[in-house]
Amino acid sequence: MSEREFDVVVIGGGPAGYPAAIRAAQNGLNAACIDEWENHDGSRAFGGTCLNAGCIPSKALLESSELYHRASSEFDRHGISVTELGIDIAAMQSRKTGIVKQLTSGIAALFKANGVTALQGHGRLLSDHRVEVTTADGKKETIGAKHVILASGSVPIELPIAPVDGQDIVDSWGALEFTEVPKRLGVIGAGVIGLELGSVWHRLGAEVVILEALDDFLFMADAQIAKEAAKHFKRQGLDIRLGAKMTGAVAGKTGVNVSYEDSNGKQTLEVDKLIVCVGRRPFTSELLADDAGVALDERGFIQVDEGCRSTAADVWAVGDVVRGPMLAHKGTEEGVMAADLIAGKVGEVNYDAIPSVIYTAPEIAWVGKTEAEVKASGAAYKVGTFPFAANGRAKGMEQTDGLVKLITAEDDDELLGVHIIGPVAGELIAEAVLALEFSASGEDLQRTVHAHSTLTEANHEAALAADNRAIHAINR
Ligand code: FAD
Ligand code: NAD
Repeated sequence: MSEREFDVVVIGGGPAGYPAAIRAAQNGLNAACIDEWENHDGSRAFGGTCLNAGCIPSKALLESSELYHRASSEFDRHGISVTELGIDIAAMQSRKTGIVKQLTSGIAALFKANGVTALQGHGRLLSDHRVEVTTADGKKETIGAKHVILASGSVPIELPIAPVDGQDIVDSWGALEFTEVPKRLGVIGAGVIGLELGSVWHRLGAEVVILEALDDFLFMADAQIAKEAAKHFKRQGLDIRLGAKMTGAVAGKTGVNVSYEDSNGKQTLEVDKLIVCVGRRPFTSELLADDAGVALDERGFIQVDEGCRSTAADVWAVGDVVRGPMLAHKGTEEGVMAADLIAGKVGEVNYDAIPSVIYTAPEIAWVGKTEAEVKASGAAYKVGTFPFAANGRAKGMEQTDGLVKLITAEDDDELLGVHIIGPVAGELIAEAVLALEFSASGEDLQRTVHAHSTLTEANHEAALAADNRAIHAINR
């Protein structure tokens, strides 16, 4: 029997893989996308970790929990009284599931509209660009392709001393599916997931203790922003314990018994649920036949060049399974780039202008270099900061925590980095990303008209402050 032939076959239908398939089809190529994602209820869906168990469900719960928190702690300041405020976790979860379903079925519709062949099953790259597809019922088919894009994503790193059982000790996916608010919640790892999901359940009433192995808090962020974040999280009541080396976690009848060591010696902690979120690792299980010719690096990522070409000719790899930050938008841009390069078009990802966002309250977002990185480069630089406490819109919103920090080069005023902690920082950072992408100077931002009254005026004032020209703050 002759094999089905495609121009492009994408293995993995997450935010790196499905846009690659759509762009390939937009480029006039005959594309297929294979995905094996299975939800806890047995249903299948495209969208990968991001849509099914990551970005989208977590943001739905972040919003619900934030609204609850604001209603209980802030509405009175607006002169709004609320009686008998309650939480219905089942309703919250069902809203979340509805959003996920809408978006994942949207991918199926986009595939159909663009003429992408959607295949549900496991894909395995063989030699000569052939891909073996195994469906859930075990049926096998081999398809051929001129180009293959590997987008198999990542999975949580497991801690053998705290094995996930899906009940009491859970990973991030399990933590998005709690059916009630745990009274005492432990979190291992004060990274992005620990802070986001720890905040969700804390706002809904859980006592949260986060154990972090490192002595530094949010080491990847600018130190001033990390310090500001630590202050706000502490004030909110999140108990973040740094320098805590886990020694074990055992689930029993009364909860989970966690043991760890810190500078004061051996410690124990009793919690009802424990979330293990200590990072993610690239997922390449059963992905590559021995003769596929695709090399992995020493950390298990598929080795690629700057254009996402793997070591095998016409085999590309994108998203969490390759080097770089494990972010949905980074994977999407890589997928689109690969599909454009395959079609002989221009394709490039600017790895120096990828924004990071941590969806806590206040939100944290940055792009470009931190002050420590700029300092380490030896170049002279300027810093401008502006607090949201001095921004009219932030005051109206009762969201005055945080600041914008902007770093420019002393010599040519080039914009080097922008770091924001404050309301909708993830939206505000978009202006800075565009400015970096267009190689803007600090003066370019200073001379750009920002609408009044908006939070973006804090970006504007921070740019002015770098040259001691802020209008609504006392300059140095
Ligand atoms: P994935 O999304 O992991 O998708 C890979 C897909 O490939 C999966 O469906 C998998 O089943 C399938 N697959 C793997 N191997 C095969 C195979 N051999 N055959 C067929 N199918 C296969 N990032 C952000 O940018 N913003 C956020 O707000 C954000 N929030 C997050 C919240 C949580 C709780 C988590 C866990 C992650 C979050 N992330 C966020 C990270 C984001 O989810 C990942 O960076 C993104 O999903 C990576 O996309 P990907 O396509 O590379 O991989
Ligand atoms: P992470 O790398 O952000 O944080 C893991 C934390 O766990 C680190 O601070 C690390 O020092 C700590 N740690 C490691 N081993 C430990 C141990 N034994 N005991 C205590 N602490 C330990 O990883 P994550 O939070 O699991 O998130 C995984 C990935 O998902 C991240 O790379 C992130 O890019 C992505 N993600 C992004 C978003 C977003 O964009 N908003 C949200 C969630 C996840």
